[in-house]
Amino acid sequence: MEQTYIMIKPDGVARGLVGEIIKRFEQRGYQLAALELMNPTKQLLEEHYQDLKGKGFFAGLIEYMASGPVVGMVWVGKDVVKVGRKMLGETNPLASAAGTIRGDFCIEVGRNICHGSDSVESAQREIAMWFPRGVKVASRNTSLHALI
Ligand code: ADP
Ligand code: MG
Repeated sequence: MEQTYIMIKPDGVARGLVGEIIKRFEQRGYQLAALELMNPTKQLLEEHYQDLKGKGFFAGLIEYMASGPVVGMVWVGKDVVKVGRKMLGETNPLASAAGTIRGDFCIEVGRNICHGSDSVESAQREIAMWFPRGVKVASRNTSLHALI
């Protein structure tokens, strides 16, 4: 089953949006497979954003991402990489539709509260980087059936 790496950035955590973002993924029907509140090193953040190293905003991006705890998560389910990105909205919140996370909660590209992997390959790379001990996806039907 497809997996993606979703991260609530320091501003999302500081603004108390952790529950709201988790709620949207749960309600959509995706399954949470890993979650950790962490204080990433700049080295890890630079590796995470390695493709953006040449950009003028890179140093500011690393400062921002290192400014407080982040919540890293792995979400699992059908087409979760593409649909997860849709749920986040556009990189620039001002271009994000209402109903998306960025479209509902922010206005600054440099403070856009969340991250989502942009491809299945990036997701695999990011999950391995942020959850180096591995991620175990539980069988979902067991617990759901127990409630009926
Ligand atoms: P996304 O997070 O939507 O995949 P990118 O991978 O292109 O977007 O960029 C990573 C992050 O870098 C963005 O989420 C945003 O926080 C930051 N960023 C991108 N473009 C800019 C910019 N022009 N100015 C400041 N920060 C930016
Ligand atoms: Mg990206």
